[in-house]
Amino acid sequence: MEKRKVRFVDPGKLYRMLKSELDAAYFDVMEKGELINRGHLKSFEENLAKFVGTKYAIGLNSGYDSLHVSMRAAGIGPGDEVIVPAHTFVASCSAIVNVGATPILVDVTPDFNIDVNKIKEVMTSRTKGIMPVHLSGWMADMPAIMKIADKYNLVVIEDACQSLGSSINGIGAGAWGLTGCFSFYPFKILGGYGDGGAITTNSLEVATFARRMRFNGEDRETGEYHGHGFTCLLDNMQAAFLDVKLRYMPQWIEKRKAIANKYREALSDLPDLLLPHYDRPGFDHVYQNYTLRSKQGEEFSNYLKEHGVEVLTQFRKPYYKHKALNLPDRGFTETEALSREVCSLPMNVEIDDVELDYVIKVVRSFYGK
Ligand SMILES: *Cc1c(COP(=O)(O)O)cnc(C)c1O
Repeated sequence: MEKRKVRFVDPGKLYRMLKSELDAAYFDVMEKGELINRGHLKSFEENLAKFVGTKYAIGLNSGYDSLHVSMRAAGIGPGDEVIVPAHTFVASCSAIVNVGATPILVDVTPDFNIDVNKIKEVMTSRTKGIMPVHLSGWMADMPAIMKIADKYNLVVIEDACQSLGSSINGIGAGAWGLTGCFSFYPFKILGGYGDGGAITTNSLEVATFARRMRFNGEDRETGEYHGHGFTCLLDNMQAAFLDVKLRYMPQWIEKRKAIANKYREALSDLPDLLLPHYDRPGFDHVYQNYTLRSKQGEEFSNYLKEHGVEVLTQFRKPYYKHKALNLPDRGFTETEALSREVCSLPMNVEIDDVELDYVIKVVRSFYGK
């Protein structure tokens, strides 16, 4: 087998595919000298809200900032508890800790998302909110979560950083909770050329709060400070680039689904692999990541890397096992099992068939096929 190199994502290649449009956006921003909170940001926010299906979108500096500002918008602080999955990127949990609240971790199910049947058992009189995380482009069970939240009067903040464009029964990720939180980190399904993020919401109050807080608490029209805020708005330049890329999202999602199907057809006969395909009516997987589980864990992912296939193994070490984070490890069985086995294959819209066939060949050769 001739060795090749297949990248997990290839931002340079995607840039070359969109070069004329991205260059036009760049020159437009530069020539107008519009850098902070100008037309490109407003346009992107309008288009993003439309795409997600909410009244408002507010561009922020990062996915983390969108989670953090959401916590504050919900009035969550010291003494409050917020339920969050044990298997997620650490930023979900850090947003809770950094407002002085206590994260209450809950195990996940084999689809990598929070186990809704384990939410009630950790609820106390201090429980104020739930932060479901929609990992890899596949949403947590929002109908069940909203039912619990309505019954017990809890705030829902969706960490949708990995699931822009996903939906359940036609309702988009980020349109269910008080807020939806998105990241435009370059590896995400809608990636910028640096950090970026956004909140989506149907609440004018939350939208106004976030718009002020991203500008150090200031109402830009009156100059009045409405609280101690932050400097965390999405750059106008990034917004201009993201606005170009957002237009491609529907066709890119179709492309991702086609790649996922190709992986499925080529790999589903391998008994030691668990592939990320789920049969749940109404749920739509947009494949931000194609994260499979291999019984051979690290041995499998190392073999792929040695053969030039760039893979991600998020997260081999669960965040609550990092000592400095000071979080209780209550023994999350599913999280521990899948953490040993996860491996995300290259999944992006710039990949070609030759590269995909090579990835498939390497995976099969690991199993002697
Ligand atoms: C990427 C990500 C974040 C954080 O986004 P940043 O833009 O890197 O701050 C939060 N939660 C999840 C699930 C993510 O994947």
